[in-house]
Amino acid sequence: MKLETWHGRNMGSIKRGLMADEETRRKATVLGELVERRIDVFCWCNRCGHNSIVPATRLVAELGPAFPVPDVGAHMRCTCCGSKDIAARPDWPSLGQVARHG
Ligand SMILES: [Zn+2]
Repeated sequence: MKLETWHGRNMGSIKRGLMADEETRRKATVLGELVERRIDVFCWCNRCGHNSIVPATRLVAELGPAFPVPDVGAHMRCTCCGSKDIAARPDWPSLGQVARHG
């Protein structure tokens, strides 16, 4: 009986750990985090498809380190067509490798 009780508690703590991890992933990445990891921001124009890599250090200087990366696009303008409908995401270097494995 004692062994069963211990096992139950252990499972509970594992479940809590997974939930905390999910919470972290749902939180938007901020510019300061990208500067720390030396990752730039990938910007994409939803109107004409023009895209470019913007240094995170440059964006931090303008918007601050606590600024969420997905909101960066709202502050940008396409150099190609002038549209302000810009999507922004961290330019994670590992994304391509993950796709190939999948
Ligand atoms: Zn454009």
